[in-house]
Amino acid sequence: MTACVLFIGGMDSSGGAGLLRDCATAAQCGITARVAVTAVTAQTDRTVTAVHPIAPEVVAAQIRAAGQVAAVKIGMLCSAAIVNAVAATLPAAPCILDPVLCSSSGHDLIDTAGTDLLLGRLLPKVDLLTPNLPELAMLARRLGVIAPEERARVTALLERGCRAVLVKGGHGASPDTSEDRLYLPNAEPVVFSAPRIDATLRGTGCQLASAIAAHLSLGNDLQGAVAAAKSRVQHSFWAAASDKAAISRQV
Ligand code: PLP
Repeated sequence: MTACVLFIGGMDSSGGAGLLRDCATAAQCGITARVAVTAVTAQTDRTVTAVHPIAPEVVAAQIRAAGQVAAVKIGMLCSAAIVNAVAATLPAAPCILDPVLCSSSGHDLIDTAGTDLLLGRLLPKVDLLTPNLPELAMLARRLGVIAPEERARVTALLERGCRAVLVKGGHGASPDTSEDRLYLPNAEPVVFSAPRIDATLRGTGCQLASAIAAHLSLGNDLQGAVAAAKSRVQHSFWAAASDKAAISRQV
């Protein structure tokens, strides 16, 4: 029987991010996907034109219908009512939370009450949180931490009860490398470094978190699952960069 992962998140009509990206990643990893849709969005690569939240009881019903799964990945949650529904029905399995706060085009994908409830009610149930640098700063600020140090920000999140935090360094300053850091309580972070590739790609946060969930469901430990997922995202960047080079040779 193939491993099965539950993906909880939003539909991005452009296919760049959200559940479509999660399911494509699941297929690449050779696992079965179940989904719980939290919101339907209308998007292009440059803008979000509509967001329609799904009724919380329908989100809860989808999660219950998924039954027993080997891992859960959570993305866009949209509202406090949906965060509550997810927290109340989450199955007992390793849980990865990608804190989707806003699209790269700048549209909010969760409201402030939802973010506060995510921190208060969902975080204690989460095994791995995967913020990028702006998300880390914003979540820490909601917890009253305004210190610029990454360690202080991560500590505030770990103290809220999540078991580990993977800080994604894609927005970092280095022109040559992109560095992600995996923090577990009372330990030095494990660093995952990759060459920075000249390509822009949507949905890489979704892809990384869903590939981590997939590799956990296949029996990897957390560090192994992160390493395998990073390598998958790196291949996507290489493919995007070689597409870009091929297109520029054609024109
Ligand atoms: N839309 C949905 C439904 C998402 O889940 C996400 C990210 O997880 C986004 C949009 C944002 O993706 P991007 O940052 O690539 O615009």
